[in-house]
Amino acid sequence: MTLHYDLHSHSTASDGTLSPAELVTRAARQGVDVLALTDHDVTDGLNEALAAAEPLAITLLPGVEVSVTWQGKTLHIVGLGIDHTNATLQQGLAQMRSFRDWRAGEMARRLEKHGVEGAYAGARAYARGTILSRTHFARYLIERGHANDMGQVFKRFLTQGKPGYVPGEWATLPDALHWINNAGGQAVIAHPARYKLTATRLRQLLGEFKQHGGAAIEVVSGSHSRDDYHAMANYAKEFDLLSSCGTDYHGPEQPWLELGRLPPLPKICVPVWSGWEKLPH
Ligand code: AMP
Ligand code: MN
Ligand code: MN
Ligand code: MN
Repeated sequence: MTLHYDLHSHSTASDGTLSPAELVTRAARQGVDVLALTDHDVTDGLNEALAAAEPLAITLLPGVEVSVTWQGKTLHIVGLGIDHTNATLQQGLAQMRSFRDWRAGEMARRLEKHGVEGAYAGARAYARGTILSRTHFARYLIERGHANDMGQVFKRFLTQGKPGYVPGEWATLPDALHWINNAGGQAVIAHPARYKLTATRLRQLLGEFKQHGGAAIEVVSGSHSRDDYHAMANYAKEFDLLSSCGTDYHGPEQPWLELGRLPPLPKICVPVWSGWEKLPH
């Protein structure tokens, strides 16, 4: 029997809109056998998600998505199968969250200057967990009529060079890999095709990632095209990296994405789960 894996998803602990329990329930209904909850820089949703999975025919894999700055670009590194009680990991994630807190205040100040009233409280009202993400600001900006949709609001306000964008330093790549590996996890480069790196820079990233203990790259992702699947599968093979798949689900507001609804990994891939022991269900 082939199992259905969705190894990248978000809950209200970060910028998703379903609670951890709602997310797990929905994934089970969609026929997902193994779901990883990978909230941004926080693991607060994992205990609720693990408890929700317990009576269901689904395995919840503890995960996280760590924000990284590499050569001036923001990258996301997913950790799969982490021990979320690990002190090294939690100290690292706490640093990311304190940068997030400062950044949120700074974003709000810049947006206010640009004529957006009540940005901090407005974003906070969309957050149900402890972290504030650009997504929460985006929802408030749309509510106030500053943009029509997520794509537009990011383009106008929240990306590099725009009024609400705050540059800053997230974790280094070696630090993020150390936190994940120290917690017994496997590190995976999230949606690698989204960073728009040249082939030369992507190869440099893959080399450094592998050298510092990285395990896999997302080949099939909710934000990849079919061409991206094949390009990334070839890179995985070239660098002898394992391959992962995940929707990067954030909630039913993005109806074009559904939990577990992904094509299979290309045949040349070695799945990230190939070394996993037999799962309980
Ligand atoms: P942050 O980690 O707070 O900087 O926010 C990053 C999050 O914003 C990502 O995880 C996505 O969920 C969301 N995001 C980034 N760019 C876009 C975009 N162009 N459209 C919609 N959501 C986006
Ligand atoms: Mn997100
Ligand atoms: Mn991401
Ligand atoms: Mn994500």
